Amino acid sequence: MALKFFNTLSRSVEEFAPRDARGKRVGLYCCGPTVHDFAHIGNFRTFVFADLARRCLEFKGYAVRHVMNITDVEDKIIRRARETKTALRDYTAKFEAAFFEDFQALHCLRPHETPRASEQIADIIALIEKLMARGVAYRAPDGSVYFSIEKYQGGGGHYGRLVKLNFEEMRPGERVSSDEYAKEAAADFALWKARAPEDGAVFWPSPWGEGRPGWHIECSAMSMKCLGPSFDLHLGGEDLIFPHHEDEIAQSEGAGAQAAGEPFVKYWLHGAHLLVEGKKMSKSLGNYFTLRDLLAKGFTGREVRYLLLTAHYRESFNFTLEGLQGARAALGRIDEWLGKLRGVAGVATSPPDMGLLAPFVEAVENDLNVSTAWGHIFAWIRPMNKLMEEGKVRPDLAASTLAAWDKIDSVLGIGARDEFNVPEELNSLLEARQAARRAKDFKRSDAIRDELKAKGWAIEDTPKGPRLKRM
Ligand SMILES: [Zn+2]
Repeated sequence: MALKFFNTLSRSVEEFAPRDARGKRVGLYCCGPTVHDFAHIGNFRTFVFADLARRCLEFKGYAVRHVMNITDVEDKIIRRARETKTALRDYTAKFEAAFFEDFQALHCLRPHETPRASEQIADIIALIEKLMARGVAYRAPDGSVYFSIEKYQGGGGHYGRLVKLNFEEMRPGERVSSDEYAKEAAADFALWKARAPEDGAVFWPSPWGEGRPGWHIECSAMSMKCLGPSFDLHLGGEDLIFPHHEDEIAQSEGAGAQAAGEPFVKYWLHGAHLLVEGKKMSKSLGNYFTLRDLLAKGFTGREVRYLLLTAHYRESFNFTLEGLQGARAALGRIDEWLGKLRGVAGVATSPPDMGLLAPFVEAVENDLNVSTAWGHIFAWIRPMNKLMEEGKVRPDLAASTLAAWDKIDSVLGIGARDEFNVPEELNSLLEARQAARRAKDFKRSDAIRDELKAKGWAIEDTPKGPRLKRM
């Protein structure tokens, strides 16, 4: 069976055929985090979806080159660094490190390359120079450089591949300088932003004067540098379709680096957005969660990943704390099943049971249909548990089931129960309990123990002192 993906370009499910003539190498780019704050759970839905796509491609035998940029120069970052009187790199380093910690906690495979925009300025300038030379970019009186949609269209380019635009309403020559704007405000967009007083020390020299890159050009420059002018897959959240991805296509194809007839990107995949407790996430509604917030409530990255992977990536999904409890219960059923299987299998080995594996593969190959895939898995677990209870499962059957699960898990990345992966906040609580005990404040130490217990953690005494263990 071939792998199929919904391509936003054609708005249909297409069979995946890599550009590589030998059919092996695949280039995959996913827009990375803007490191202005801790990433929220909606951001991570996109990264878990990209991780699933990559794992599925690797399962099918493709040699995937996965690139994810780090946006570390952008309007919001500059504003926050200024407000906190911090140098840009010092400000972003903290959030970048936190991002990769969270990424790992969610069992996401590290991309092969993670270029930072601030370190790719020469390539960004070279790309803008190409656009200038081809007459599709111009320097405005304010010293900024803009992309001309009219010139691009006049030269045979097509602006509006991913979204339908009403060109009648667009006024040629109008400009939009901010990185984020709505379809109705589509106009010439900034490639290079002239240095402004509020940018502080964040500027670089360029042929057009001092300034900094716009957000959209960063991704065109970094993706083409790492993967070449044409590559297979570009992923991101649906909120990036316009203007970010539309602008990426215009800039990359406008520079004319592709071979004749080759697009910048063959397949565009977009993940749907996330609702939390039935509403759009917002700090004022109290339904805004970073991964850290959820870990502090006692959930694990594995439970969060599982919940995010229960819904198809193109469906909007309602993420709830109750859903996380359900994820914990479901993982408990899987762990129990695997534990029993290991007990029965002992040292036996066997090839994967295709009765379990084949329907799973068929489901994920079909545009990553994980909901159907989980349906198959749980339909397998229930009767098998019953048979094991009755002592009717032989070691070779248990071993072949475990072999099938290993293959399945290489795609889902659920992994084993992370018993000792303790969130930092909980370790601080454990330390506070030790301090209370030393001070003979047993009331407080018992209260902390109960709080940890309520979060699903038990205190275990070891020769090296106490540590936390999942209950
Ligand atoms: Zn991007």
